[in-house]
Amino acid sequence: MSLPRIEGDSTADFVIIGGGFAGLSAARRLTELQPGARITVLDAGRLAEGGTGRNSGFMIDLPHEVQSDNYSGDGDDRAMIGLNRHAIAYARDAVDEYGIDRNFFDPAGKINGAASAAADEHNRSYASHLTKLGEPSELLGERAMREVTGSSHYVSGLYTPGTVMLQPAGYVRGLGAGLVSKGVTIFENSPVTGFVRESGCWRVIAPTGSVSTPRVILTVNGHLESFGFEQDRLMQIFLFAVMTPELDAEALKSLGGQPRWGVTPSDPMGTTVRRIDLGQGGNRVVTRTCAVLRPNCEATQADLQRAARVMQRKFDQRFPSLAGMTMEYAWSGHLCLTLNGVAVMRQVDDGVYSGCVQNGLGTTRGTLTGIGAAELACGQTSIVTDYFTAQARPKKLPPQPFRQIGANFLLRWKEWKARDE
Ligand SMILES: Cc1cc2nc3c(=O)[nH]c(=O)nc-3n(C[C@H](O)[C@H](O)[C@H](O)COP(=O)(O)OP(=O)(O)OC[C@H]3O[C@@H](n4cnc5c(N)ncnc54)[C@H](O)[C@@H]3O)c2cc1C
Repeated sequence: MSLPRIEGDSTADFVIIGGGFAGLSAARRLTELQPGARITVLDAGRLAEGGTGRNSGFMIDLPHEVQSDNYSGDGDDRAMIGLNRHAIAYARDAVDEYGIDRNFFDPAGKINGAASAAADEHNRSYASHLTKLGEPSELLGERAMREVTGSSHYVSGLYTPGTVMLQPAGYVRGLGAGLVSKGVTIFENSPVTGFVRESGCWRVIAPTGSVSTPRVILTVNGHLESFGFEQDRLMQIFLFAVMTPELDAEALKSLGGQPRWGVTPSDPMGTTVRRIDLGQGGNRVVTRTCAVLRPNCEATQADLQRAARVMQRKFDQRFPSLAGMTMEYAWSGHLCLTLNGVAVMRQVDDGVYSGCVQNGLGTTRGTLTGIGAAELACGQTSIVTDYFTAQARPKKLPPQPFRQIGANFLLRWKEWKARDE
């Protein structure tokens, strides 16, 4: 599906800037709250070509704080689980309503893989934390891990059933197509350069056109800074991933294991590995690791080359029978963290609402902040708006150049510490 670029000037009841998880969830929530409202979404690129379409697709229901040592949150884990499940249920409704391919939304659960005795211990303590919360999980031994993944790399794993494995590009394109069928206007390749007050409305400006509206919803994740909000408080992080070519019959035989599975590392700075099948884009293995802070929102070619080398090593380590296989795709993508793990989901100006800053779990958090920003823009409150509007402001970051040097040093150290995980 290719959508037009904005041309000329128009008006709308709501303008959403950014068409990722947050922006498209906001648009859908508006169609529910104000049927018949004129809703315009502008995205700088094409749907599914940013972080939303190119992530690992783990839509996780449990706390998943990537800045902690074991994903647990500082706050109320039960509240977070409830909200994450609210997001998953919302996405499931969208899949039903818009007829999105079920392969793109697979409620298969996920495994936290452990490659060392320390990580295994980590999983066991996480399992007992989950038991206390009344959450089911299952410890898998070395053999069970080999049966699932085909790899002898893992000594154990912790399976939790509530994660949905998205095919993120398919899901987000399906959302876009569903919204268009409901009358939402989506413009691609229409980067917003700013918005100005004119006769009591906001004029949202892109190089090839503009839209006047009383209400603007910003769902641009870390690019919130580009609009002058929360400057020096947002960490612009790049993650990296590689994907094998379509595996032929011989490679599949030597790989073994099941056709679909997803393994997150027991240490958040470790390596995520996912096996997809024909229904999700081909029989392939997707590997994700490495992180770097780049305040200008752009990863360098050298970052990508280093990450590709590291990921090849991780792949070879896990699948020695396929070692050296040339990856077909390598990419980097952007995510946004705050030092205190908060999002920015609140009214930020008169008639301007933010559903930004997802930290590590943008599939669920993005869905939630989009829902919440739409609700606030309609003057409504809910468990979602209550949760996010009660959060503190993002903490101020240390000044440059200490911020970049310090953060990248810490990331490398954590990466080294996570080693085999
Ligand atoms: C390799 C990788 C793997 C990941 N794996 C996972 C995972 O397994 N699970 C998980 O939950 N999260 C994962 N993430 C994080 C997740 O992808 C992000 O947190 C999520 O995409 C955030 O959603 P969003 O809608 O807030 O922002 P984005 O996806 O960044 O979308 C924002 C949109 O705004 C648009 N935009 C920005 N500026 C402008 C402008 N000026 N005008 C118009 N449009 C603009 C962009 O083009 C973009 O489409 C991963 C990220 C990466 C990079």
